[in-house]
Amino acid sequence: MAIDVQAARKKLEEERTQLLARSIQPPEPARGDEADLAAMEQAKERSLWLANDQKQRLAQIDQALARIAAGTYGVCDACGKPIAPERMEANPLATLCIEDQAKTEKKRK
Ligand SMILES: [Zn+2]
Repeated sequence: MAIDVQAARKKLEEERTQLLARSIQPPEPARGDEADLAAMEQAKERSLWLANDQKQRLAQIDQALARIAAGTYGVCDACGKPIAPERMEANPLATLCIEDQAKTEKKRK
């Protein structure tokens, strides 16, 4: 079974559009009493965190779309072998085959 690159691209582009549509609006300028200000601060921190998380995801999607354009989508970054289609289906942003992913995670520990 080969990787359905067209389907993967469609899925990635859809997710990208959704992410951009959902991009976090900066919280309203703070006004109100101390409790309000504390709640505002918390909301701001959370939205910054979410924005970072989204930015990372968006960058990964852009990289995957660039790999599709370059014809290297589904090729392991470490060993150059094709990544299993099932793995790419489960994780369209995967850049390593299962063996190299395991190696990378082992190194991280
Ligand atoms: Zn590999």
